[in-house]
Amino acid sequence: MPILSLHHVTATVDDAQADLDFCLDGLGLRLVKKTVNFDNHHVYHFYYGDERGTPGTIWTTFPYANRGVPVGTKGAGQVTVTSFSVPTGSLSSWRAWLAGRGIAVNDLESRFGEPAVAFSDTSGLTFELIASGHDERRPWAGSGIDADIAIRGLHSVTCVVRDAAKTIDLMTGLLGFRVLEETKGRIRVGVSGGGPGKTMDVVHDVNAQPAVNGLGTVHHVAMAIGSEQEQLDLRGDLLRRGAKVTEVRDRCYFKSIYFREPGGVLFEVATIQPGFTADEPLATLGRDLKLPPWEEPHRADIEAALAPVKA
Ligand code: ZN
Repeated sequence: MPILSLHHVTATVDDAQADLDFCLDGLGLRLVKKTVNFDNHHVYHFYYGDERGTPGTIWTTFPYANRGVPVGTKGAGQVTVTSFSVPTGSLSSWRAWLAGRGIAVNDLESRFGEPAVAFSDTSGLTFELIASGHDERRPWAGSGIDADIAIRGLHSVTCVVRDAAKTIDLMTGLLGFRVLEETKGRIRVGVSGGGPGKTMDVVHDVNAQPAVNGLGTVHHVAMAIGSEQEQLDLRGDLLRRGAKVTEVRDRCYFKSIYFREPGGVLFEVATIQPGFTADEPLATLGRDLKLPPWEEPHRADIEAALAPVKA
């Protein structure tokens, strides 16, 4: 089965500096790439993750403040919650850490046996920290957060759809997910045995309002695939099922295809290679503004138009 794990989650956010402060100081992630939106080079694209931005740990943002993009609406056809994995027993420390940064934290009812808390960033995105005893991934050690509690990577995402049947059919029939657990209105699916970084929750509600893309909403979720050949094979399979799939796009740090699952959520399938060390060394990932080769001739214009930020 082609999909190995989650790869990354990408959201539209408001202010670039506020986003950096929240993700670096608040969440303790590493900035692994500072580049621009390849489809709009006047907007930053920040990638955060573990030390090297391992697929399954990556959170990415487009800060669209002051560019005429309205606030979005969470709803059906969208990822509405991004959940990170933290160690068992760490949630009280996280409550204090986030409260100390002015972030209000809500306790959630334990879900599938795992306790969790929820909070928002200044754009209105919803995040969860889910305490898991089954996450062996090593956290980024360069943040101000103790390694005993630090984020291990993505835990899962919550997709909202009106009717789960076709979504689950695609995920289990073609992408390699299995239904792991189910509660009222929520179906948990996983790949490669599931667990943190390999899990998605499909929340279904026939009355859910439709999502509107905009500030404070997740744009898409990407899943990792092992090779470019497997990606091409999967693209062919999706086309044969009638899905509208993009051509393979070169994102410099991975290659991607995009399609909407039947419930409307934008899915991306991204390769593991070449990764974020493709254009700068591991030690200094995220320090300099990196541009794709085709944008380099415009570097002066691009840099002049971007608001300076401190990471
Ligand atoms: Zn993406």
